[in-house]
Amino acid sequence: MRDWEANIRKVTPYVPGEQPKRTDVIKLNTNENPYPPSPKVAEALRQISAEPMRKYPDPEARMLVEAIAREEGVCPEQIFVGVGSDDVLAMIFLTFFNSQKPILFPDITYSFYDVWADMLRIPYEQQPLDKDFEIVARDYDKENGGVIFPNPNAPTGALLGLETIDDILSHNQDVIVVVDEAYIDFGGSTCTGLLDHYENLIVVKTFSKSRSMAGMRIGYAIAGEKLIRYLSDVKYSFNSYTMNQTAIALGTEAALDHAYFEETRQKIIATRENAKKELKKLGFSFPDSQANFLFVTHKRVPAAELFAALKEQGIYVRYFNKPRIDNYLRITIGTDEEMERLFEFLREYL
Ligand SMILES: *Cc1c(COP(=O)(O)O)cnc(C)c1O
Repeated sequence: MRDWEANIRKVTPYVPGEQPKRTDVIKLNTNENPYPPSPKVAEALRQISAEPMRKYPDPEARMLVEAIAREEGVCPEQIFVGVGSDDVLAMIFLTFFNSQKPILFPDITYSFYDVWADMLRIPYEQQPLDKDFEIVARDYDKENGGVIFPNPNAPTGALLGLETIDDILSHNQDVIVVVDEAYIDFGGSTCTGLLDHYENLIVVKTFSKSRSMAGMRIGYAIAGEKLIRYLSDVKYSFNSYTMNQTAIALGTEAALDHAYFEETRQKIIATRENAKKELKKLGFSFPDSQANFLFVTHKRVPAAELFAALKEQGIYVRYFNKPRIDNYLRITIGTDEEMERLFEFLREYL
C-alpha cells in the first residue's frame, strides 16, 4: 500500500437498484411511480428557456419552498429542500448526529443509513425488528446520539401509528429524531402534527415516489425554524446552489397540483390492495404494507430463484441478499396492467 492510501476516506457505497438499459421491461425494482408527473410539470417544462441558465439559481429556492410550505400547512422557514431526500438526509446526518453516543435505527431499514453513518464516522446501533418485521418502540428508550427510521419502514412497508411515534419521541427529547416519510402518502398519517410538541423532530419527504419525480431529484425536511437554520448553515458551507432552476420551477408545479397528487396516489393504493389479494392467493405472505411496494416471501419457492426467473422474463423486482431478508422480494406497485403481467407469470411459474 502506498503511503497516501492510508489517508483516503474509504467507504463501502450504497448500491442503488438497477436501472436497466432495456426499455421493454416491467420495472418494479426501485419504487418509482408508474404514472407520469402532474401535467402541469410538462406544461411548465415547455415554458422553460435556456437564457436564464447563465445565472445562478435562487440559493433559497424560495418559490419551491413556499409551494411545499403551503401544501404542508407550515411556514416557509420550516422547510429545507435538497437534491432528493438522500441529499437532505445526508445533510441531517452531518449536522445533527455529532454525539459520541450511537444513533439508533432498525436492523432492517433503508440501507443508506449505515452508509452515511460509516462515512461520517457516526457510531450507530441497529435495533432488531420483531419477528413480524415491526419496529419495537421500547428499543429506542436507551441512551443514544439520535434516532432515525422510515415510516412506513423500507423495505418492509410496515407502518407505525402516530401514538407509537409520539411514544418514541417522548422518550427521546434530548436528541434529534428523524422520521423519513418517503412513503407516507401511500397510506399512513404524516407525523408533522407532532412538530408543535417536539422541537427535536425532523420529518423528511420526497418528490421521488408519490409525486413521480425521482429523476428531478427533489426532497425536503420539515422541522422547527431553529433546526432548519442549522441545516441551512451546513448546506451553505458546502454548496449554496443545490437546487437547479429547472428543479425549482417544475417542483413548484408538482407541489401545487394537489388534485393530480390525490388521484395518482389513490390509484396506487387501490392497485396495492388488489395485489395483496392476488399474491396471497399465489402463496405469498408479507407485512401489511402501507407503501408503494410489497415485501413478499413465498411458502415454497426461494426468493433468489423467483428473482432470477422474473428478471429472465423482463420483470425487475428487488432482492436483498442480507441476513433475515434473503428469502424476500420487494415488489414496487406498478400500473394495473403491469401487475397483471406479473400475476400471470407467477400463476404459470408457481
Ligand atoms: C426512496 C427513499 C428515499 C430517498 O429518495 P430520494 O429519491 O433521494 O428522495 C429516502 N428514504 C427512503 C426510505 C426511501 O425509500
